[in-house]
Amino acid sequence: MAAEGAATGVEVLPAELAPAENMAAIDILSLTPAGLYCAAGDFFIDPPRPVSRALVTHAHSDHARPGHAKVLATRETLALMAIRYGPGFAGSAQAAGLGEKLMLGPVEVGFHPAGHVLGSAQIRLALKGRTLVVSGDYKREPDPTCAGFKPIRCDVFITEATFGLPIFRHSRTSAEIEKLLASLKIFPERAHLVGAYALGKAQRVMALLRAAGYDRPIYLHGAMERLTEFYASEGVGFGEIRKVSGADRAKLRGEIVICPPGALQDPWSRGFPDPLAAFASGWMRVRARAKQRGVELPLVISDHADWNGLLATIRETGCEKLLVTHGEADALTHWARGQGLLAEPLHIRAHGEEDEPMHAAAEGD
Ligand SMILES: [Zn+2]
Repeated sequence: MAAEGAATGVEVLPAELAPAENMAAIDILSLTPAGLYCAAGDFFIDPPRPVSRALVTHAHSDHARPGHAKVLATRETLALMAIRYGPGFAGSAQAAGLGEKLMLGPVEVGFHPAGHVLGSAQIRLALKGRTLVVSGDYKREPDPTCAGFKPIRCDVFITEATFGLPIFRHSRTSAEIEKLLASLKIFPERAHLVGAYALGKAQRVMALLRAAGYDRPIYLHGAMERLTEFYASEGVGFGEIRKVSGADRAKLRGEIVICPPGALQDPWSRGFPDPLAAFASGWMRVRARAKQRGVELPLVISDHADWNGLLATIRETGCEKLLVTHGEADALTHWARGQGLLAEPLHIRAHGEEDEPMHAAAEGD
């Protein structure tokens, strides 16, 4: 089973997940090599390979893949998938409004805000009086670029756990932005290159800079232009944004340049005056990772719930059963059992750009 799972892009660890046992554990869903599957409604949630019908929580590439026959997601997620994969990203696409109730066979389906990136949703399923919520990726901190997370009462909660260890307590985001602004004052001759994932984090950092009163133009790497234009068309204010491609790099001393994390070490980053590498990610809590990436200014800005956010959310769902995916499942499972919940790790992991934890959450960490 493990070998089959690996070949199909989903990691299924057999110790915890003999199929029958797993069916019982997840209730309305089961875990198959093609991902989380609802037999009653005949659909998958965030499947890592093409299927007949996929419900997609958000547009990060470890959740949203091209090639499904049918996709159901929020309007924003569908638009972001079209930007990333082209208009033919699925055979057909249906938009789900947040809070709207849809029926897929006998299963009632609803999308509810997850606070992770624009369009991100938790998916609530109800069947025969039982309710199950798949969180997708989520965070509890307010984010000016997307709708805030809403806890949904349910019997079974499937939570992500990217930062599911007690050492992960994210700082206040405003304090991290202040660090960046302080650095600009200390090093006015240096171009500040801020690595940020292209979908969500880049736009959030720019919106947070504006909220902090920063009013200089912000320079943007080409890889983020279209996604940022979409955010702007959805009403997120970024002030004056300039393309790096149209600028004289040598003149960008003391300016902020937002770029994909990989660009920090690229030849792309040459040509800026004495570039200072910053990186906005929850992983920046771990000093060794910042050092390893040559990051001079780590900014702990995460689009995932930290340890306290995970615990608070699990409590607020009122769930009796908890399944833990995407990240550090063991500590959270242990904690939940201590609270009297039925809790199991759910070893599903999409392979992709996530070979090491820096990329584990694809782009959203
Ligand atoms: Zn994500």
